[in-house]
Amino acid sequence: MQGRILKRRLSWSILIWFVIVLLPVYAISDVVIKNPYVFKAHVYKGQLHAHTTNSDGTASPFYLVTAYKNAGFNFVAVTDHDYVTPSPSVNGILFVQGVEETAIGGHLTVFNATKNVDTQVSQSIIDIQNADGAIVSLAHPNYSNGWTDSEIGELHDHYSLEVYNGVVERLEGSSAAYSENKWDNILSRGVVTWGVAVDDCHNISYSEFNSGFVLVNADNLTTDEIKESLKKGNFYASQGPSMEVTVNGSQISISVPSSSQIQWKKSGGTVIKTTNSVLSDNYILALRVVEWVNLYLLEHASKDFQTEIFFVS
Ligand SMILES: [Zn+2]
Ligand SMILES: [Zn+2]
Repeated sequence: MQGRILKRRLSWSILIWFVIVLLPVYAISDVVIKNPYVFKAHVYKGQLHAHTTNSDGTASPFYLVTAYKNAGFNFVAVTDHDYVTPSPSVNGILFVQGVEETAIGGHLTVFNATKNVDTQVSQSIIDIQNADGAIVSLAHPNYSNGWTDSEIGELHDHYSLEVYNGVVERLEGSSAAYSENKWDNILSRGVVTWGVAVDDCHNISYSEFNSGFVLVNADNLTTDEIKESLKKGNFYASQGPSMEVTVNGSQISISVPSSSQIQWKKSGGTVIKTTNSVLSDNYILALRVVEWVNLYLLEHASKDFQTEIFFVS
């Protein structure tokens, strides 16, 4: 009898020992956080989507690029509709040739474009532009003229989608301007793509001007270096605040300059955690099944919006 009790106690203690000691070690030991944010000599502020009088914008190329320079931007990609605007030669800011291609399903913005591809087949545009040394982003996914989840599901090899678009906010409000839902869906399908914030500026005196931009880590202000950092995700989409994020082992920590709402999401778009009115927060990845963690600084109303993403394996 005593022997049986002893045996039962022993098996219980082995089980408890396994759950308390071994399981957490197993769960976190293989967590590898792929941190795309690599410190470089500079952080450059850039605009990836803007229009001139060469399509439906109201400013000439020279006037538009000068306005961005005066607003503290280090680079601007001019993306007229189906037309590659040449450099207007404004000193003191890097001009990047771009184009916004009209495709079946939606619009595609191209960074470092030499041409407008003569097709409306979305994946062909992406493939041809990539082969030509450009990189492609999905424009305003939640706009009425945007991308559906099933259209997006067919596409690959784009480097980003617009998680915020300024002119869409002016035209259709914030629920159309922010596209975290579409980004979450792409990521949850296993496609790696980054989130950018853009003005899609059509008039420099309208609300979209300087409302969404990227902050890019790079050593030198050249189109090639900016492009490489954009491709690798070494940048932040932002509407103003600068948050500092560090990765230490399986823990991601964030600090922000002013009290903010911070939200953490994981694969599937599930909210893991939302913290209100804080200056810092952290999250420990304790399970390997989390494939990505997206960190949102969510203050849509006050334009304090920023996002960072980490893939986990
Ligand atoms: Zn568009
Ligand atoms: Zn546009």
